[in-house]
Amino acid sequence: MTRRNYQTIAKRSKYATAIVAANTMAADRKTIDLPPTPAKLRITMSKIAISRRSMDAIAAQAEREFPDECCGFVIGAGADEQIRPITNIQNRKHAENPAAYPRDARTAYLMEPKEHLAVLEEVDRRKLPLRFVYHSHPDHDAYFSPTDRAQACSFDPTEPDYPGTAYIVVSVRDGKFVRAATFAWDSAARDFIETPLIVES
Ligand SMILES: [Zn+2]
Repeated sequence: MTRRNYQTIAKRSKYATAIVAANTMAADRKTIDLPPTPAKLRITMSKIAISRRSMDAIAAQAEREFPDECCGFVIGAGADEQIRPITNIQNRKHAENPAAYPRDARTAYLMEPKEHLAVLEEVDRRKLPLRFVYHSHPDHDAYFSPTDRAQACSFDPTEPDYPGTAYIVVSVRDGKFVRAATFAWDSAARDFIETPLIVES
C-alpha cells in the first residue's frame, strides 16, 4: 500500500467515525427529548443514506474551502450518486455590495448561478434525484440556522424549494471536519427536522 493510499483510508475512517458518532448522539437526543409524534416517527423510520465516497468528498471540500463556507449538491442514487461542488460567490457579492450582502463567505453561501442551474438541468436531463444540498459552517456547529431555512424555502416559507431533497450541514473547526448533520422537510411540522444520515460504504 502506498503512503498516499494509507493516508486516504485513514482520513476516510476518521470521517466515518465522526459522522457515526454524531448521528448516534443526535438519534439518542431525539429519543430522550422528543415525544414520539406521528411526524417524528415517520422521519425516524425513513432512511436517508449517502455513500462514504460522497461524504468524504464533501468533508474534504469543506476543509479545503475553510475558512469560507463551501456548498454543492449530491445527485443520483446508488452507483449513480455523485457530488456537484458549486462555487460560493458570497465574498464577491459582499465586496460588490456590502449593504445588500452584509455577510462574507465565512458565515454565508451563495451558489454561482450558472453552476447551480447546470446541476438542475443535469438532474432533469438525466432524470436523477436531487438528493442533498450541502454547505459548511466554518468554526460553527452543524445546525440548520434560520438563514438556512429561509434559503431552503426561498419562494414560499411553508414549502421547501426542492421537495424530497435533504440538507447536509458540515461543521469544520480550525480547518478540520468535525461532524455532519442532516435535515429533512417534515410536511406535518412544515419545518426541517434533524434526521440520522446513514453513511454507506
Ligand atoms: Zn448554514
